[in-house]
Amino acid sequence: MDQYAVFGNPVKHSRSPWIHAQFAAQTGAELEYGAREVELAQFEQQVLAFFANGGAGLNITVPFKERAHDLAQVLSDVARVAGAVNTLYQDARGQLVGDNTDGIGMLRDILQNGGVLRQRRLLVVGAGGAVRGVLPNLLAEQPAELLILNRTADRASALADRFRDLGSVRGGGYDLLTNASAAPAFDWIINGTSVGLSGGLPPLPTNVVSPATWGYDMVYGPGQTAFQQWCINNGAERALDGLGMLVEQAAEAFYLWRGVRPETAPVIAALRHALAAVD
Ligand code: NAP
Repeated sequence: MDQYAVFGNPVKHSRSPWIHAQFAAQTGAELEYGAREVELAQFEQQVLAFFANGGAGLNITVPFKERAHDLAQVLSDVARVAGAVNTLYQDARGQLVGDNTDGIGMLRDILQNGGVLRQRRLLVVGAGGAVRGVLPNLLAEQPAELLILNRTADRASALADRFRDLGSVRGGGYDLLTNASAAPAFDWIINGTSVGLSGGLPPLPTNVVSPATWGYDMVYGPGQTAFQQWCINNGAERALDGLGMLVEQAAEAFYLWRGVRPETAPVIAALRHALAAVD
């Protein structure tokens, strides 16, 4: 039976085994998908051992996406530009291939919800691995402008420098907006920070929201996240959470591994139902 897993630390709350079990059932695939908490010093060794023992594919999560990028022998364009890998497999020659499906996952979710990024003004909050992974896909949609804000300002400006060739990108600390006498509203505010995992909010001024703004929180939970509520309470048109992105990035990994594209809508609905039931 084909073996897959997600490697991370921590990883025990990962929904990936559940999602891939749904995809396997839906497509009639015989596979096993586990979650392995990997010691920080052991990552490279464990990845290589997994494939040496016949493993078919890995997802990589926090904090290993950049190390997976460095370990891969072949990189997809998106993974190379992002500098982060969330999906690993071997090609026909046995080379370790690294790809990143976070960005296509978020983009598919946005498009399926009727969102438009082209010629829109985007505010992206956070500059960690998740933001790095989605920037190539966001910029490929040719937004009018993309501003990255982060608590550690240098990380946001370094990311903006890295992606400057792909579009109009700026980056810095939150003071870029709070010091502006009239901070303009954005068409999209995408929260890629982990502050929401503890119910907190990124420190944004409310005038970045207009009645035309759409919010997107990469975090998800049983109900609306704190950031979704903040967007709506400040007059945004809509606010999406990251559950669709989670399922879509998994579906793209499944496709890369198995050449079969699972249907995501029933899995998103089932996961939302399951999350609400345990609340
Ligand atoms: P990460 O690499 O650890 O980056 C965390 C980011 O959050 C950094 O920009 C960090 O700022 C910022 N941050 C953390 N605590 C903060 C606080 N108290 N105030 C302001 N900023 C804070 O994590 P990641 O991999 O990018 O993941 C970010 C989030 O996206 C996580 O919540 C993760 O669960 C979610 N995610 C969701 C999906 C999905 O499929 N839905 C996929 C990937 C990630 P500093 O740089 O200043 O530390």
